[in-house]
Amino acid sequence: MSSNSQAPINHEEVRQMLDHHQDKMKTALRVCAHCSLCADSCFLYHVHDKDPRYMPSHKVINSLGKLYKKKGKIDRAGFEEISEIVWRRCVLCTRCYCPLGIDIPEMIAFARSICRSQDVYFQWSDLEQPAE
Ligand code: SF4
Ligand code: SF4
Repeated sequence: MSSNSQAPINHEEVRQMLDHHQDKMKTALRVCAHCSLCADSCFLYHVHDKDPRYMPSHKVINSLGKLYKKKGKIDRAGFEEISEIVWRRCVLCTRCYCPLGIDIPEMIAFARSICRSQDVYFQWSDLEQPAE
């Protein structure tokens, strides 16, 4: 699991965090042209055979974008799905380039912060160990 708690998500706290950064983050989400150019500079996209789920824009839309779309009203299972995206599919290497100046790593880092505030985060120990 990607969580240390089974407590209900504090939606009010999540909404407050979203509201605090909404001007910058919502603008970035709105101006994304879905051109996929950022994918070219993401090594994780390339090492996963150009799996669209590893495209930087896809990762942002399905994490922070989802949080804004639902106004933070996402249950713990939904948060765990987001944590998979923002920890396992991005290492915050800051190499992704967007010609429109959208700061993908900043957005993913913010999504991580929101997950952490609800005690939801990816734990590498959850990964299956390879057979000896
Ligand atoms: S390069 Fe920028 S505008 Fe194009 S998909 Fe990526 S984030 Fe969106
Ligand atoms: S910060 Fe994340 S999305 Fe951007 S290039 Fe690095 S791994 Fe890919």
